[in-house]
Amino acid sequence: MSFAQLGLMPRLLQAVSTQGYTIPTPIQVQAIPAILEGRDVMGGAQTGTGKTAAFALPILQNLSQKGHSKSRRPRCLVLAPTRELAAQVGEFVETYGKNLTLRSTVVFGGVGINPQIDKLKRGVDILVATPGRLLDHAGQGTVDLADVEILVLDEADRMLDMGFIHDIKRVLKLLPAKRQNLLFSATYSDEIKQLADKLLNNPAMIEVARRNTAAEKVDQVVHPVGLKEKRVLLAQLIKAGDWSQALVFTRTKHGANRLTAYLETNGIGAAAIHGNKSQSARTKALADFKAGRLKILVATDIAARGLDIDKLPHVVNFDLPNVAEDYVHRIGRTGRAGSSGIAISLVSADEQKLLRPIERLLGKAIPVEIIEGFAQNQADKDEETFVDFRRSSSGRGQKAGGFAKPRSGGAPRRGNAMANRTTPNRTSASR
Ligand code: AMP
Repeated sequence: MSFAQLGLMPRLLQAVSTQGYTIPTPIQVQAIPAILEGRDVMGGAQTGTGKTAAFALPILQNLSQKGHSKSRRPRCLVLAPTRELAAQVGEFVETYGKNLTLRSTVVFGGVGINPQIDKLKRGVDILVATPGRLLDHAGQGTVDLADVEILVLDEADRMLDMGFIHDIKRVLKLLPAKRQNLLFSATYSDEIKQLADKLLNNPAMIEVARRNTAAEKVDQVVHPVGLKEKRVLLAQLIKAGDWSQALVFTRTKHGANRLTAYLETNGIGAAAIHGNKSQSARTKALADFKAGRLKILVATDIAARGLDIDKLPHVVNFDLPNVAEDYVHRIGRTGRAGSSGIAISLVSADEQKLLRPIERLLGKAIPVEIIEGFAQNQADKDEETFVDFRRSSSGRGQKAGGFAKPRSGGAPRRGNAMANRTTPNRTSASR
């Protein structure tokens, strides 16, 4: 299957080929023809599947073939949960549409509103926005959504998680009733189903990853480690494995700051992005990371949501997320279209309760590898918890992802799933 066979016009094919895409991804194969036909779409897809192109390309084509509207009020509205994701979608729309004459712009909070107003005044065909700032514009009368023909809710599950449902409802009231609706979500909660039922009319149901499953191309591993040793282990993994880049997730903003400072002190270039950082600091850190000037980006879930970073080799869960779905979102940052990646979770004894729901969601156990000198410390300090840990997972047999003590004596042995990786001093959990 080629992009041309999907019915895309030559000017879009050119842009796609400039991007180096040769084969459409599964979601593109399914979504592009449906959207070109004007159908509503429910897309079950996480980032890394090529979903942005899956909606942006056919939207650009449909709008371009209809010609320009006189009003130049937005004809397509894309709502995204975070500033970063909105900016990223906006960049893709620009890139794919560079051979067309459509105009697009992005509006989000945390930056000055006046430049956005100027752009909106000049006219846009495609508006990418976060809900809050969009409503600010609507309230001030600086955007008129009466001509919107296509609505995209990108990462709808995250928008609901972030409490945007009321904002979304307010936005929906500002749109014409007759329009094409595209809803993308990595997970299908009951809330998403409700929203889809309300919003979508006879949608094409497109699901590319199995429901709630992590990207197949991601090698996942758990390293049991004492809470206080996590940062030491991380620095060791980065250095010994000669990592080029990694995105590291922490649960809290303070945790992100502390870890960043520790890595920096240990000669590892790092920056943090989270909600307490100014928009300009976040943008700079992301730009540095994308350009390869920054080795480690430490992020909280919300700040990192949907970030598209090409061929990211490592994602680290420095802390496990409280919500199992976030694990799937996080590891979606690696093993992106066409490249494989490694997702490493540093799990302390008190996080075992978070690991189980994640494994249930994945439908499989995550391989465990003990790095010599680290889990042993944990066992020494907290033998009781450690033993429970092992016992509680033993029911799942040799392949289970529970913790076990390293084998004493003998040569280090590696877990099957990670057999080809090169970090020294690694001993597999018994399996
Ligand atoms: P997304 O799922 O939209 O976040 O996209 C993930 C990444 O895949 C982006 O870096 C895109 O540039 C890339 N991508 C999208 N479509 C293709 C394709 N057909 N072939 C190769 N890479 C692609």
